Amino acid sequence: MRTYLITGGSGFIGANFIKYMLRIYHDINIVVLDKLTYAGNLGTIREELKDSRVTFIKGDICNRELVENIFANHDIDYVVNFAAESHVDRSIEDPGIFLKTNILGTQILMDTAKKHWSIGRDEKGYPTYKEGKKFLQVSTDEVYGSLKRDIPEGRELSIEGEEMKDLLQGREVIPKTFGEKLFTEETPLDPRSPYAVSKASADMLVRSYGETYRFPINITRCSNNYGPYQFPEKLIPLIIKNILEGEKLPVYGDGRQVRDWLYVEDHCRGIDLALKKGRLGEIYNIGGFNEEQNINIVKLTIDIIRKLIIENGQLKDEYRGVIRCTPETISYDLINHVQDRLGHDARYAIDPAKTVGELGFYPETPFTEGIERTIRWYLENQDWMKEVVTGDYKEYYDKIY
Ligand code: NAD
Repeated sequence: MRTYLITGGSGFIGANFIKYMLRIYHDINIVVLDKLTYAGNLGTIREELKDSRVTFIKGDICNRELVENIFANHDIDYVVNFAAESHVDRSIEDPGIFLKTNILGTQILMDTAKKHWSIGRDEKGYPTYKEGKKFLQVSTDEVYGSLKRDIPEGRELSIEGEEMKDLLQGREVIPKTFGEKLFTEETPLDPRSPYAVSKASADMLVRSYGETYRFPINITRCSNNYGPYQFPEKLIPLIIKNILEGEKLPVYGDGRQVRDWLYVEDHCRGIDLALKKGRLGEIYNIGGFNEEQNINIVKLTIDIIRKLIIENGQLKDEYRGVIRCTPETISYDLINHVQDRLGHDARYAIDPAKTVGELGFYPETPFTEGIERTIRWYLENQDWMKEVVTGDYKEYYDKIY
């Protein structure tokens, strides 16, 4: 019976991870620690909270006393640290909270785990730890900075390495790239936004605990996630929400920024693989083989929504009175190019060769399938969307705790 401390488990990826883990393992316990910021929504894990294997604690990873109590009361085997301020635009407005949560919070979690997991010292003076413990830091490809977009229209990605070739055989997806270079785990860190700096700093701190104290760590660095339960300030859910409300779709600059997109459940599987098979001290890039320009993501989302909700030029019956858009408004005319984000990175692209080779990871969800599944989810879960944007989830929390 393994016990996971999942921080940030009411947020987008953390909540998906909890759902994934409870579904595939029976013999686990999960302790969720979440501050329930605007991005955390208890409604997202409403069903999971009824599961006897799950304990929820509202609180801040920066609260040393609280974290100490959690370790004192639960025999934690794995810490999976999702808790973070995660939105680049907010970090440009107010960097302070990003540095506090993302760096100092990570330090407090590690200090406490180190204390509770230590069992002595080896002959060289390094701490030794109880068997099977691990701290996994969930990080991002944004720590590597920005890559050149030197293939403007993109081309098929040629993948090096035998394992990669084997894994790709028979796949329908043809990975696409917009540049010659990809981020590997060896790429020097070059973060450009306050958010990315806070994540890179945390990564360096985690690495330093691995080196200095032989603390059992892994770091995973993932590309842009998309899927159910993502707060509608990030590109895909924001675009879906605005289309359904008949609102303009803000696109930064020319919209040609390139991101690598990964379906959230594939990320969850990658994290689980890193927990089980990752060599201690190692960093693993988790990517989707799926680079795309923001503007194309926006157009594709418009196309899919049109396909899903319009029939014979009319809104399908089930959407009448539920959403505000009309067949006429759902068009590329909604796209509104706004002033570009300050210091906007041109391109992120991950080379996941190490993760594929060592952990057997492969992004199983083709983008066309994942994006349609995501849009269907938002169409069917309009209430969730309203709840997170109006703050009703806070009342929900007060009611049940
Ligand atoms: P999110 O913003 O949806 O969720 C963050 C969660 O952390 C929320 O539930 C929030 O309440 C909680 N939280 C914030 N500050 C806290 C604190 N001080 N103490 C306790 N809980 C706190 O973020 P997400 O998109 O789910 O991202 C999760 C992690 O994955 C982050 O570390 C992020 O950097 C990383 N990541 C995200 C992406 C992506 O595309 N979303 C890609 C790569 C890596």
